[in-house]
Amino acid sequence: MSTATQSAYLVTALCFILALKGLSSPKTARNGNLIGAFGAAIAVVVTVGQRHLGHRPLIIGAIVVGAVVAVPAARMVKMTAIPQMVALFNGVGGGAAMLVALDEYVRLHRLDSTAASIAVAFTAIVGSVSFTGSLITFAKLQELMTGRPILVPGAQFVTSLVGLGAVGCGIAAVAASSVPLLVICTALSLALGVLFVLPVGGADVPVVISLLNAFTGLTVAASGYVLDNTLLIVAGTLVGASGTMLTQLMAHAMGRPITGVLFGAFSGSSTAGSTAELTSSADRGVRSAGADDIAILLAYARKVAIVPGYGLAVAQAQHTCRELVDLLESRGVQVFYAIHPVAGRMPGHMNVLLAEANVPYEQLKEMDDANPEFSSTDVAVVVGANDVVNPAARDSVGSPIYGMPILNVDEATNVVFMKRSMRPGFAGIDNELLYHPKTTLFFGDAKDSLSKLVAAVKAL
Ligand code: NDP
Repeated sequence: MSTATQSAYLVTALCFILALKGLSSPKTARNGNLIGAFGAAIAVVVTVGQRHLGHRPLIIGAIVVGAVVAVPAARMVKMTAIPQMVALFNGVGGGAAMLVALDEYVRLHRLDSTAASIAVAFTAIVGSVSFTGSLITFAKLQELMTGRPILVPGAQFVTSLVGLGAVGCGIAAVAASSVPLLVICTALSLALGVLFVLPVGGADVPVVISLLNAFTGLTVAASGYVLDNTLLIVAGTLVGASGTMLTQLMAHAMGRPITGVLFGAFSGSSTAGSTAELTSSADRGVRSAGADDIAILLAYARKVAIVPGYGLAVAQAQHTCRELVDLLESRGVQVFYAIHPVAGRMPGHMNVLLAEANVPYEQLKEMDDANPEFSSTDVAVVVGANDVVNPAARDSVGSPIYGMPILNVDEATNVVFMKRSMRPGFAGIDNELLYHPKTTLFFGDAKDSLSKLVAAVKAL
């Protein structure tokens, strides 16, 4: 590899590091993204431009096909569907790294060092798990299959057996330099990815996507070792490390150990609650009101908290929400947004949505700053959130979400819930707060309801 290529790869690696730094804050995330994309573009141009590159037309053709599929897909995807898109792209990445390493092994039959052979076996196992596991998470989030944990009798035993078989065949393949054994190892690992993710359900699925993303990073790093490509090692390690940290942060924000996320269904502690619990609460009475009553409650309040959640994103109601807040502020009401770290379906989801509506950062309060405010809040308006305000997470030992830190909206004097029905949130469990005497439900699509509220407040 020429010095110019090495230097270009160094610049790319720096871009990736700066990109991660930029992505750590909503203010700098857009620039961070651009810097990362610029770095990736340098890497692609320099790699494809190398003099001794074989199959250049095929490689360029593959890049064109990939771009033609991915650019419109990424542009058109709804923000609420980004987790499954990430799952798909991530799975493809893991699968690609696995195929490249296998090709290298098959082509050369044996690699010059045992370390490189071990890296191939590692890539085959982890890349395959990441590929099929990501496809299953995609199918779950896209509702192509049930999002609840799928538990078949003896699943734990079969999964362990397949896992041991995959690792055993990988070790044997390295020891005997055997391509057939490596192929069996890959096939078992593909099955392992499916078995690994099937028992994960409910709110745990996005956490597993992040974990599989970290796996893909490690796979890419290992394939970089096989191909003797420093940039792949650096980029893969960055993805592996940041993916692992993100997984830990998400699990922490949900108050769940990683083992609970992965194996919770086996011990009955998955976040996907039981349908029996919902059926028994279906007939309970709730208090609901229309726009006029709620407008009076809000317009004459001293302090109002807006608690956005997944429903705000579904309804694309961020602009109307801001309009209502502006209106209330113009009447002298003090308003703040309370942001839960896992509100929505991906980290930072609410920050991105509200930034899109130009909500000033100063109005956003993260959970730790928002919680002390609720006891002095007159009305907490929950706009399409559910799990992140469910007191069961705080009070009900044994609840599937017990231990998840929540926004304590129940400490406000009044609570208004905007939602379309009595359906539960992502975790699939009932929310006692919906039935509390201080709670009023305002049924309807969030954007529609907020528009009605804006009109009603204006009419006061
Ligand atoms: P939830 O999924 O708990 O609740 C969403 C609420 O929005 C539901 O009550 C739903 O009720 C309502 N809703 C849906 N569409 C609309 C609409 N168009 N208009 C009005 N309301 C609507 O969301 P939360 O944000 O409270 O919680 C996020 C969940 O995702 C948590 O369980 C969290 O653990 C999980 N999660 C989040 C991650 C993240 O990084 N953000 C990662 C991993 C998991 P209805 O259908 O009746 O309208």
